[in-house]
Amino acid sequence: MALADIVARIRAAERAAGRVEGAVRLIAVSKLQPADRVQAVLTAGHRLFGENYVQEAGEKWPAWRDRFPGVELHMIGPLQTNKAKVAVDLFQAIHTLDRPSLAQKLASLGQARGALPQLFVQVNTGAEPQKAGVLPGDLAAFLRDCRTMDLSPVGLMCIPPEDQDSQPHFAMLARMAADQGLAGLSMGMSGDFETAIAQGATHVRVGSAIFGARRQTRA
Ligand SMILES: *Cc1c(COP(=O)(O)O)cnc(C)c1O
Repeated sequence: MALADIVARIRAAERAAGRVEGAVRLIAVSKLQPADRVQAVLTAGHRLFGENYVQEAGEKWPAWRDRFPGVELHMIGPLQTNKAKVAVDLFQAIHTLDRPSLAQKLASLGQARGALPQLFVQVNTGAEPQKAGVLPGDLAAFLRDCRTMDLSPVGLMCIPPEDQDSQPHFAMLARMAADQGLAGLSMGMSGDFETAIAQGATHVRVGSAIFGARRQTRA
């Protein structure tokens, strides 16, 4: 199946980049995919999935979690502050910490619950006006503010501009993570995950290359 092909390509890209085997985690992005395709990937043994919408994830995953022990869910879509409480209960990682108001909300949830999902800060490497993410020039101050609030992001995430070569964006993200002492790098999708691995990705987010084309909107 496509999952096995993608896993093989990830292992080959790790080898080509001189990375340790298994250094890169595959997040299978299951948003807007039919249930039978997701179940096939679960049945094949894969356990790490990414979702973009809190409500969709909350509807789909509790039942699968009961059937397939060990599922790990990562939030990779924009997170509204008023959905943060549901999100921290549903997800083991949030890749889209992108603004001070969300950091404040997560910090107060963390104080109330004693623990939070792993956090990645989304960086708008292309400085695109319509795209979420902290601007590169604001990252150091944002991370300082996070740490003041007792948040400890583990890495950075980016979505390069669609019309550009991803490679310089991945290289920029890797440089910023190194400068900030962050080990996690969430970058690379179906079309460019091998490029991301060459630049140091620790998490690649692959959807359509595993599952096929998805519906364009939520049902
Ligand atoms: C949908 C999505 C993906 C997966 O995209 P594909 O091109 O289907 O691999 C990865 N990351 C984010 C943030 C997404 O929204």
